[in-house]
Amino acid sequence: MQALAGPELLSLWERGASRHALDRSALLAAAARPDWPAAGIADRPLGQVNASLLRLRAATFGPRIDGHADCTQCGQRLAFTLDARVLLPATADEDDAPRTTEAAGLRVRAPSLRDLAGVATEADAERAMRALLARCTLAGDLAQVDDAALATIEDALDALDPQADLVLALQCVACGHAGQAQLDAGALLWDEIDAQARVLLAEVHRLASAYGWSEAQILALSPARRASYLALVEAR
Ligand SMILES: [Zn+2]
Repeated sequence: MQALAGPELLSLWERGASRHALDRSALLAAAARPDWPAAGIADRPLGQVNASLLRLRAATFGPRIDGHADCTQCGQRLAFTLDARVLLPATADEDDAPRTTEAAGLRVRAPSLRDLAGVATEADAERAMRALLARCTLAGDLAQVDDAALATIEDALDALDPQADLVLALQCVACGHAGQAQLDAGALLWDEIDAQARVLLAEVHRLASAYGWSEAQILALSPARRASYLALVEAR
């Protein structure tokens, strides 16, 4: 996968800033996978979208992910570092066939960004899960599914589309509680793009002020050459 170049990164930042997080993930996935028809991205299995976002992030900013999560037991903030590659499937998944599976008497398909957006306003986690499953049930009666069977279906969906739900096991350093951190591939990529866009704009500002070059000229410089000019401007 190709890294985002400066002009493309700034264009994405500009278009993504005002969007809802899920809509923004679709925008970023379209940049990651120009070979995918853009109109269909919101309907792809979420795991495929997440993998594309993680790959674009690794290609542009490197594979290291620094994050934090609060212990659900004692509230201690836990920092973690991981390599994005451990979250990715070993081989690029190019399978365009719909991902479906059977569990607890239902035939279900893997959820998509559109499905998540459809249940985004549901605050209660269990009701959100049922609403999500209702959207993804192709055959069978969801109303007949009890909570134990619901867990079976969730496990089957995890196995069907493993990158859909990115969880990291974490042990609290303060109380020893074994918990999980949920990783949001779209947010992980967007945070880097947002930070990098601000750095780029500041660099354009300094070089344009010093040399009178246009934004396009400055962004066309390689990062190494841009850094050299910035060092010269700083040394004046
Ligand atoms: Zn704790």
